[in-house]
Amino acid sequence: MDRDDILEPQVVEGMIAEGHTIVIFEDVVLKLDSWLHQHPGGRLAILHMVGRDATDEIKAALHQQIRDDGLYNCPYLDYGKELARYVALFAAFLFALRFGHHILSAIFLGLFWHQIMFTAHDGGHLAITSHFAVDTLIAMFVADFCCGLSIGWWKSSHNVHHLVTNQPEHDPDIQNVPLFATCPSFFRSIHSSYYDFTFAWDAVAEIMVPYQRYTYYPVMGIARFNLYLFFKQSTIYFQGFRDTIFGRRRY
Ligand SMILES: [Zn+2]
Repeated sequence: MDRDDILEPQVVEGMIAEGHTIVIFEDVVLKLDSWLHQHPGGRLAILHMVGRDATDEIKAALHQQIRDDGLYNCPYLDYGKELARYVALFAAFLFALRFGHHILSAIFLGLFWHQIMFTAHDGGHLAITSHFAVDTLIAMFVADFCCGLSIGWWKSSHNVHHLVTNQPEHDPDIQNVPLFATCPSFFRSIHSSYYDFTFAWDAVAEIMVPYQRYTYYPVMGIARFNLYLFFKQSTIYFQGFRDTIFGRRRY
């Protein structure tokens, strides 16, 4: 049985009759046999839901547990440490530039750009103050002003990435054919619901993908320019902003 197979109700009933722990979550059939003894809410929390649609329960329980564990609370002390690191890198960049060490100053500036994007990421998730306007302004300052990237475009793709993480047809972050393939699903052409574009498994992919362990870092070294392209597209079509504000995105 393939993980992408569509299962008839009789097949699901048969699996339950065989003693498997089967739960429905959204449109997906989950086989939780090995997860049964590891569930933080105890095995009964799962057994109660066998053969039933547990979408609401899973979402509510997970949300409550995250809240109870304080995982929604931002550790501001850690942000202080992060901030000190960014300031140190920026100061080192200025210092090296001041004394004419251009290559060294470029390295510090690159490290500074690289590191501050973590803050843009968290701001884009509204994970710093949880206040939409404040976190969005922080993210815009870091991503747009400091790094030249559109946080509006980034949010429109990144939110989809977190909703349907690692699903080949839906997660835009792993759709990198013909350069990289992260799972066998890409070995046949797949249609991206995010880009509304078919990633064809063609002759270029046949040549490039076997060498992806060598090409990954060189390609990622210039991947930023690809982001500029997406940024320009989303700005021209006003798409990133619209999707960010109104949450309109097909998938
Ligand atoms: Zn994220």
